[in-house]
Amino acid sequence: MSACRLLQQQRVGLLQVLCSSGTAEILESVLDRLLAWDVLQWEDYQTLRPPNRSLCTSARELLDMVASKGEEACGLLLGALDQVLPGAQKASLSLGASAGGPPLADRPSPSTASQTLWSERPCLVVRLRPCIGAALRALVESGSLTTYDCDEVQLPINTPAQQARRLLDLVGSKGECAAKALLQFVERVEKPLKWPDSGTTFPAELLQYQKKLRSSVAAQSHFLNTYGGTGSLSLDDVYTEGLLEVSQGGEEAQRPIGLEDILGQVGTLNKDADMVLLLGEAGSGKTTLLQRLHLLWAREVTLENWILLFPFSCRRLSAEEQELSVRDLLFSHCCWPDRDPEPLFQFILDHPDRVLFTFDGLDEFRLRFTDEKRVCCPMQRASVAALLFSLLQGCLMQGVQKVVTSRPEAFDASLRTYIRKEVTLKGFSPERIDCFLRKQHRDPGLTSHVLQSLHSNTALFSLCHVPVLCWIVSQCYRELLGSEGSHLQTFTDVYIMILQHFLQRRCPRRLPLASGWAGGYAGVVLRLGRLALRGLQTACYVFSDGELQRYGVTDNDVATGFLIRSDSFSALEKHYEFLHVTMQCFFAALFVILGDDADGSAVFQLFCPRGRRRPSLAGVCSMPCLPHQDPELKGHTSEAERPNLQIMATFVSGLLSQRHRILLIQSCPASVLDRKRQQVVRGLSRGIQRHFRSIPRPVQGEKKSMHAMPEFVWLIKCIYEMQDDAMARRSVAKLKVEHLKLTYCNIGPVECSALAYVLQHLRSPVGLQLDYNCVGDVGVEQLLPCIRVCHSLYLRNNNISDEGIRKLTEKAVHFENFQKIALFNNKLTDACMMHFAELLKAKQNFLALRLGNNYITAVGAELLAEGLKENSSLKYLGLWGNKIKDRGVEALAKALQSNCRLVWLSLVDNGVGSAGARALAQLIKTSQSLEELWLSKNCITREGIEYLLEALQTNTSVKAIWLKGNDLSPEEVEELKQRDQRLTF
Ligand code: ADP
Repeated sequence: MSACRLLQQQRVGLLQVLCSSGTAEILESVLDRLLAWDVLQWEDYQTLRPPNRSLCTSARELLDMVASKGEEACGLLLGALDQVLPGAQKASLSLGASAGGPPLADRPSPSTASQTLWSERPCLVVRLRPCIGAALRALVESGSLTTYDCDEVQLPINTPAQQARRLLDLVGSKGECAAKALLQFVERVEKPLKWPDSGTTFPAELLQYQKKLRSSVAAQSHFLNTYGGTGSLSLDDVYTEGLLEVSQGGEEAQRPIGLEDILGQVGTLNKDADMVLLLGEAGSGKTTLLQRLHLLWAREVTLENWILLFPFSCRRLSAEEQELSVRDLLFSHCCWPDRDPEPLFQFILDHPDRVLFTFDGLDEFRLRFTDEKRVCCPMQRASVAALLFSLLQGCLMQGVQKVVTSRPEAFDASLRTYIRKEVTLKGFSPERIDCFLRKQHRDPGLTSHVLQSLHSNTALFSLCHVPVLCWIVSQCYRELLGSEGSHLQTFTDVYIMILQHFLQRRCPRRLPLASGWAGGYAGVVLRLGRLALRGLQTACYVFSDGELQRYGVTDNDVATGFLIRSDSFSALEKHYEFLHVTMQCFFAALFVILGDDADGSAVFQLFCPRGRRRPSLAGVCSMPCLPHQDPELKGHTSEAERPNLQIMATFVSGLLSQRHRILLIQSCPASVLDRKRQQVVRGLSRGIQRHFRSIPRPVQGEKKSMHAMPEFVWLIKCIYEMQDDAMARRSVAKLKVEHLKLTYCNIGPVECSALAYVLQHLRSPVGLQLDYNCVGDVGVEQLLPCIRVCHSLYLRNNNISDEGIRKLTEKAVHFENFQKIALFNNKLTDACMMHFAELLKAKQNFLALRLGNNYITAVGAELLAEGLKENSSLKYLGLWGNKIKDRGVEALAKALQSNCRLVWLSLVDNGVGSAGARALAQLIKTSQSLEELWLSKNCITREGIEYLLEALQTNTSVKAIWLKGNDLSPEEVEELKQRDQRLTF
């Protein structure tokens, strides 16, 4: 069939693959190829590239444009798709015989460097992607680019691939010298690879091993554990990108990145270290992300720089009892070479920078980090712990990059010095939740129904930001659509739903779970619960057949689906693990409640204050939580991991909520349930009170402020799980603080629900500081119940967009207390300025609006000015780092003339010129309140400063105008400084 016809017939399928991933990368890679093969001209490309249009419009126009160019062009488009699409997506399409680009003979060889940039574009994008920063530095050094050009290329909203394209376009426009400099840079960074002794590049042995390793890695990463027994969906079918951010060090905000940046230059904190740390809470998708990375490497789609990738699971390494050398570790745990391993290992030693190790779940490694036994020699045998820690410290196999995943609180602080960069996985954004659910259900009608139901329950929707909960909800869509769907509020609710779902799937004819545990399920739950708890207390997550038998777990129990086979663990004996560690915590919690701990002492000890009862045990949750009657388990608790025990305790709180009493009462006497509930209530109240007592007395003149620790957030989450209003009220009744600081506490939408549930009961207004978290629009919505008691809300760097502001201001406008908001570094655009304007009009006691580093232009400033005109209370207005420009400043300055309270105004870095300065001069002339005006990093010339100086002659309130970084020569600065001391350059 002709290529034109293939294109025509598969239009729907092609549009789907080009648009459905939600990122523009596939389309842009196709465009790169078509540009390089002369199918598209530069003008065509400019029209089609996604930032200029929506993704789907671009894709449609591409198909139309190529169809109009004839058969050869259509064939080349199919060839480009063949190169770009992952295997699974190609499987459903017919791309004809024309795989690849035009025959080499038809391609004129480029005669200039600029032409090479053009014809090698796809390849150059890939090569430049991991080293944009270095390329820019080299080009600035050679004088080919300015630092201003670098800022343009490195716009944070662009992915590294997009930055690479921007770089190529920019260099192309600068002429032949710049193009040559860029090609020289690319050549320099590509080192030749030598095989030991022979000196040849890429010998057959290496390629053969690489092929074997790739296929073994691909096989291991093709399916997700959670889908093991419940369907046939592969990782390709379900993978949905989570929110990934990289730390920039110090106080700087985290910055969003893509999968391919995990090993790129961006966010490097220590370039001499080799460990990339990937942090995320339980269920945030760390294992899945690593699996995706493995799969893409195995398919040669990403991480091209790494010839060999060795994936390790720390839970499996924990079980390795033999002493090994690093060579044995690589080959026996990952993939054994078919030929002599020696030259291969030598190659690895010679080229550490081309080898990548990944360690999933360092928090699940049984032993804590110690520096006692360092191994430096790759041939030396040692315990797996010694090898692992030596590898992470870089004393063994220095230069090999490592990606390590862990939960934040479980990462050993003493390993921090070895971190090259730190990446945090923050779960799904609201759009990704929708995208994930669409991938789960092929029936669009059903998906819409599920989504509708989910969106109508905001508490549940906020839980779905945690991918593992999103997975549960997708599995239990029938329950969600049924009568119980609207009651789902907490973690525990969702886990009870999946428990019910799995049990009834296995035993459909038994009693519905809601009528109690008597329907024969109690035994299964107790046996799995005992095993789960035993595992948590000994940091054990993989269980052998023998262990299952020891705990009485039967084949039928296994068949319920909560335990899955751990295939690659050992060939000799079967091994099992829980579907997910949170599931293990849930079963352990069920056992703590339903097991034989009749006096509730295990429950009490979970929440027992540090140092009480058992002084030898460290933290709040390092307490034993198993019945004392089990002598076998005594002494193991010090190995237990605090984060997992905290998750378990959260479930214990939830299960003891009155809402679930009916479910438990048939398997546990009411008196025992009541006693345990009392223990939890007491433990939580004491925990919170202890926290409040630890607040230092305020220094005279300062507000009484509490900096919450992560433990505080956990206690609040437990109270939320109990869903007991009276208890929530009691717990904060005595809290008297003016400022509650929860910065960098991993607060997402789920935590916001819990905070609002409790804090709404505060008796006096508080400033709530949630800077540097991941609140997002959904989190803002969850916070609404407690905004009434907030006089200030600090939400710097929280991924908030216009929609979140709409919801917030709609409510806040009615709350007398609410006076200050800080939203520095979010995703706000002009669209939310009218909401702030309404807020300002309605609230004549509003004091501070700080909107720095967002995407506000003159249009937004004009909208805001409408509100400012009618407000007479605002004292602080911060618009640092937007794009207000002269027009916007003119509107603001005019509006502010009617305000007699404004003390502080920041317009730093807003493209303000002399016209803006002139408008501000008018404001200065009329204002008797303004004290500080920040105008640094703008483009004000001498003319603008003259306006300001003239205005200052009649103004006595202004104390300083900050003007560093404007369009003035050093001589002008010197002269102007003398004219009025209040000008600061
Ligand atoms: P973690 O390692 O952080 O505890 P996992 O990666 O094991 O979390 O995720 C738990 C489950 O959540 C997965 O088995 C999968 O069902 C779902 N999940 C997590 N991340 C993703 C993702 N990016 N795309 C699709 N599903 C995901």
